[in-house]
Amino acid sequence: MKGLLVTIDGPGGAGKTTVSRLLAKALGYTYVDTGALYRAVALAVLSEKCSANEDSKVAQICRRLGFRFENSSKGLRLYMNEVDVTDEIRTQEITMLASAVSARPVVREYLLGVQRGMGKNGGVVFEGRDMGTVVFPEADVKFFLDADLSVRAVRRHKELVAMGVNISLDEVRQTMYRRDKDDSSRVLAPLKPAHDAVRIDSTSLEIGRVLELMLGHVPV
Ligand code: C5P
Repeated sequence: MKGLLVTIDGPGGAGKTTVSRLLAKALGYTYVDTGALYRAVALAVLSEKCSANEDSKVAQICRRLGFRFENSSKGLRLYMNEVDVTDEIRTQEITMLASAVSARPVVREYLLGVQRGMGKNGGVVFEGRDMGTVVFPEADVKFFLDADLSVRAVRRHKELVAMGVNISLDEVRQTMYRRDKDDSSRVLAPLKPAHDAVRIDSTSLEIGRVLELMLGHVPV
């Protein structure tokens, strides 16, 4: 039987990545982190010394890119043109550039095709910002996961410190606030819940409880 398409959208730090992984594992589905695709495009744009708003150059760069996710003992890895870029795309510079790049129609159009291709056989949990609204409006189950900014900032700060990044909590909170604002106010595919999404607030929920709630909405 063809597996379902499950989408999880929401702002950074709400717990999307952790719960998407756990949900995909529980269902025996593939997990796709679409933010990583936007980050990888940002990396390609940066390494070509191009700026996010040079549309025809950016479109040209996109046409030369190929993506592949692979599960390994180190977790989900993203290969761009067969080069593992998983770690390189997590810097603050790429974080901000990904947000700028993701507001460009040429990039969204290009990644729309890439993402739909990855979902064509079903059995996938897609994590992102516009999965339930734009990329898969017909998804079988849609979630929108949110949490208070202060709680999200603490979570993201902990992750960054664990990765060895030297950054203050205040800087993380400010970057997050700016990015949320940019992502939610852009004209194209803004961050917002789909009308038929199940909304979950993880501010005071353990991740295990979030998973439990989600599993309760996925028909088996
Ligand atoms: O989720 P993550 O922080 O890795 O996403 C990086 C950036 O990519 C976000 O700031 C957002 O602007 C963009 N993005 C998007 N649409 C998605 C996933 C991510 O615009 N589906």
